[in-house]
Amino acid sequence: MIKKYRRLIQIIVFVGMFIIPLLNILEITFIKGTFYSIDIGDVAMADPFAIFQAFLVSRGISFGMVVSVVIPILIMLILGRVWCSWMCPYYLITEFIEYLRKKLRLKLNRPKYHKTLPDKTNFVRFIFLIIGTIVAGISGIPLLNLISAPGVISSQALVLIKFHYITFEIFFILLLLILEFFYFRFWCRFFCPQGAFLSIFRVKNGLRVEKMVDNCSNCLSCIRSCPMILNPMEDGLNPLCNNCGDCVDACPDNKKIETLKFRM
Ligand code: SF4
Ligand code: SF4
Repeated sequence: MIKKYRRLIQIIVFVGMFIIPLLNILEITFIKGTFYSIDIGDVAMADPFAIFQAFLVSRGISFGMVVSVVIPILIMLILGRVWCSWMCPYYLITEFIEYLRKKLRLKLNRPKYHKTLPDKTNFVRFIFLIIGTIVAGISGIPLLNLISAPGVISSQALVLIKFHYITFEIFFILLLLILEFFYFRFWCRFFCPQGAFLSIFRVKNGLRVEKMVDNCSNCLSCIRSCPMILNPMEDGLNPLCNNCGDCVDACPDNKKIETLKFRM
């Protein structure tokens, strides 16, 4: 049930990437931009990690830059990392790849859950984030913006619609997608610096998945459904969790009594 709403929002956002430049061509400009930074009317919103890198490389920050991250950060503080599972175009494509594997009757290549796996995964993604940030700071170039999957996909949609070409950056996304076919969610779980940065805003009182009763049947359906290879019964506050809701949908006990659910 949650997945239906999630899919609807993902598709609206995905189609929106192409509609926005079309509107701009028609001189309708109340909404403009990409997932690096977007303006809706007088409201400006930007990827907090893009702004953080701009601050690092320019060693300064303007009032406008601060204001542009207020709404995205508030959303992450209240709703968790919903950007990833509900809006990011790359995430939607990776879900499509899984669908494709199923249709081709290929075994889903997801790793088995082990309780040490979330810590190992978080270790790799935060080390990658820290090293990338240091290199960006030293080089004076916001390098990690160049590998922002949502940023690259949305800017490619913009140049395609407005100027009828695509740039070489699309090959980076294509390469990631080929690798996704073989390594389950490898980019989002291990490397995406944007996703890792947003994880920093995961707070105790934000929206999270929680096991509500002790007498769950321990069928482990929730673990098998989690795309981040977490144990949803224990890892609701793990920085890897993106509040996709797949585990809540998968829990058969929820039909009898609320066993695993979202709560603030
Ligand atoms: S981790 Fe990165 S690529 Fe994956 S959904 Fe989040 S922002 Fe998108
Ligand atoms: S724990 Fe549940 S909500 Fe969090 S990522 Fe896994 S399936 Fe999605």
